[in-house]
Amino acid sequence: MPSLERYVYSFGPGRADGSAAMRDVLGGKGAGLAEMANLGLPVPPGFTISAKLCIRYLEEGILPDDLREEAHRHLKQLEQAAGKKLGDAKNPLLVSVRSGAAVSMPGMMETILNLGLNDETVQGLIAGSENPRFAYDSYRRFVQMYGDVVFDLGKAPFEEVLAAVKQRRKVKRDIDLPAEDLAALVEEFKAIIQAKASVTFPDDPIEQLWGAIEAVFKSWRTRRAADYRRVHSIPDDMGTAVNVVAMVYGNMGDDCGTGVAFTRDTRTGEAVLNGDFLTNAQGEDVVSGARTPEPLAKLKRGRLAKVYRELERIAHKLERHFKDVQDIEFTFEHGKLYMLQTRRAQRTGLAAVRSAVEMVDEGLISPEEAVQRVPPQDLDQLLHPMVDPRAAVTVIAKGLPASPGAATGEVIFDADEAEALAKKGRAIILVRPETSPDDFHGIVAAKAVLTARGGMTSHAAVVARGMGKTCVVGATALDVDPQAGRFRANGRVVKRGQVITVDGTSGRVILGEAKLVLPKVGTQYAKLMMWADGRRRLRVRANADTPQDARRAREFGAEGIGLCRTEHMFFEGERINAMREMIVAPDESGRRRALAKLLPMQRADFEGIFDAMAGFPVTIRLLDPPLHEFLPHTNEEIAALAKAMQTPVPKLKRLVASLVEANPMLGHRGCRLGITYPEITEMQARAIFLAACKVAGRGRKVIVEVMIPLVAHVEELRRQADIVRRVAQEVFHEEGRAVPYLVGTMIELPRAALTADELARLAEFFSFGTNDLTQTTFGLSRDDAGRFLPLYVESGILDDDPFQVLDQEGVGKLIEMAVRLGRGVRPDLKVGICGEHGGEPSSVKFCHRVGMNYVSCSPFRVSIARLAAAQAALEEQGVINRTKATV
Ligand code: PEP
Ligand code: MG
Repeated sequence: MPSLERYVYSFGPGRADGSAAMRDVLGGKGAGLAEMANLGLPVPPGFTISAKLCIRYLEEGILPDDLREEAHRHLKQLEQAAGKKLGDAKNPLLVSVRSGAAVSMPGMMETILNLGLNDETVQGLIAGSENPRFAYDSYRRFVQMYGDVVFDLGKAPFEEVLAAVKQRRKVKRDIDLPAEDLAALVEEFKAIIQAKASVTFPDDPIEQLWGAIEAVFKSWRTRRAADYRRVHSIPDDMGTAVNVVAMVYGNMGDDCGTGVAFTRDTRTGEAVLNGDFLTNAQGEDVVSGARTPEPLAKLKRGRLAKVYRELERIAHKLERHFKDVQDIEFTFEHGKLYMLQTRRAQRTGLAAVRSAVEMVDEGLISPEEAVQRVPPQDLDQLLHPMVDPRAAVTVIAKGLPASPGAATGEVIFDADEAEALAKKGRAIILVRPETSPDDFHGIVAAKAVLTARGGMTSHAAVVARGMGKTCVVGATALDVDPQAGRFRANGRVVKRGQVITVDGTSGRVILGEAKLVLPKVGTQYAKLMMWADGRRRLRVRANADTPQDARRAREFGAEGIGLCRTEHMFFEGERINAMREMIVAPDESGRRRALAKLLPMQRADFEGIFDAMAGFPVTIRLLDPPLHEFLPHTNEEIAALAKAMQTPVPKLKRLVASLVEANPMLGHRGCRLGITYPEITEMQARAIFLAACKVAGRGRKVIVEVMIPLVAHVEELRRQADIVRRVAQEVFHEEGRAVPYLVGTMIELPRAALTADELARLAEFFSFGTNDLTQTTFGLSRDDAGRFLPLYVESGILDDDPFQVLDQEGVGKLIEMAVRLGRGVRPDLKVGICGEHGGEPSSVKFCHRVGMNYVSCSPFRVSIARLAAAQAALEEQGVINRTKATV
């Protein structure tokens, strides 16, 4: 029975069955081609097979019967529009078969060009073009790609033969090979296919076409495509469409060429048309990085200036139409320009901010759209380090500055090795001769990527830029020899494991470790953040434990501190011993001695923090040291502590051993410590209120919030809150002044969430400790999860690591319930979050939706949270994100 579902959509000059709104069906490329056709732009005729078929095909292993018939009807239409026929020996139509998912995945899936060639049609192509070299070059490329993609033989067997021929002819470039060599290569390539895949290369163009269509569908499931989806959170069940498009030729002579253009600079956001092109070449030559292309500006002058002007006109039109920066692929054939693709350009965080703000200034989009357009996570890149301009450095090579920022690490030449070493926490610079999407997992793992060949639009450059990863490509002075584990650059040899610094902002490759500093962000950033701040409801605070962190947090725009982990104040220098002394003290008097040492340190730090945060609330959490993190481990640590405590080493060892717990994360920590040793809570409350009175005495506004950690039962909260309130009164009495303060609780155990109504009777605020709440809800140790959690994410059991991205269905349900129960008892209950999720965009949006008052995150993520909070407010108001609706 024929299906009612439509599978195939045609497009051609001036008309199309689809449009940009049909990305889900046509994929990004197909939707872009359809929209350009509708706009009257010069696109070659073609048709798109629906992405909806992809997963079905992958699961069932066969294509539906009625697809063939439908596709052949559209092929007829295509032949008519092109005035040529597939398989016609005199005037053959050749087509490209290209992938294209709804979300762009540059270079991750397959493309086959010049399909339709065989020993007969190649004669027709020669007759039509009067260019045998071109015809045989197209033919050998087709057989090569077909062998690689359809018969899964990879590129290497073909490249080896090609390299040998070039060597024999003593030429460097493919285009310098004569026609007879290229014709011989066709035969050799077919023989390789026969030998390695045990199949005869198909001569029938229709058979070729269906082989290519199935291979493109299958390329959805390659490792690199799956990896890319995982990193970019693209659903696995989306599938790719297949575009069958009439070939236009960039490789027919010197007035032909192909290239990629961006309507604005995707590194900086500057509004200049830019990109790369190659004359006498086909598209994959530009993006594969096999040849280093020329900058687009060169096209502006000379014989091809007309092509440039036409491209400029179309680029402008496309940007105004889509209201976003476009990434355009084009080919020109004897000076006539064709558009092959337009899509939303991937860009750095810097470029995202600048282009969004400038488009508001140009009247293209509204401030709300600008706020919604910048992915919050991308702001992180604005805070990437760069090489200190004043540092003396040894530059050993220069390449193209493909993705900004700077990174230092060990040189590694292999993606698998880069991944393995990065997993062990090593900083890796992945160095490759050229870029290949097969290296994707290595790019993900590395701190930076460096290649000898390739242009600004090569896949590694685009992919790295999208991830905000430092990247330098086309460093032509580099002679990279992965087998030997070294590269040479301007007379120097750098071996595997040696340290270099890659500067993706300037393109420099620097020997050794260079000093890195944080960049100054521009005025566009300030403008965007002002628009964001004016639209968000959530307050954004920072987690900060020292006066220095508190000052930095203010610089990033934090409106208070949501979590000061008081135990973190003792990590440095001599302080850790005082803390350890308190922990291992065998009795109360020993503990009080240690606490007396701690009090002045805490008090001084609190003063600094209150000062830096004058006028803003500061949440100070009472001690919560999981004992295993604070007990001395090494002999040196034990010896130092024994000396400070004037205790014999064996006795101290016994004390330490007696404190070792089987499950320290569920052990004697949090308020359990203050319950067993109330003098700890007393000391801390005293330090807090003394500092508050002192700073208030200097005329500064102090807003104190004291937080009790790891509360499971209301009685724990009652007893600890009583101590805090009693000490506050004592200090106010002694100091002759009072400061406003609140006492609240962390909600970080399921029992606290379940009994939030009882807790709210005593607590004046709740702060969700989602690190522990995730740990205890999942029953998943924070310290051990790294061993198996990555597998959970890789194999799709979980979409994300729940310690990074809040598990809204599970942990989120507890949060929602606790907020409801708490506010049911105390309607003005202040509610916030201070776990790591407070700086993760999707989690921040969740916090907005459940009605929290604030989120608190690390200072570096404050801007991200501010932007995410604004987006959440706009999403709630239903301001559409036009970015999502465009190609
Ligand atoms: C939490 O558990 O989420 C939290 C903020 O506290 P910590 O990470 O210090 O346990
Ligand atoms: Mg906690």
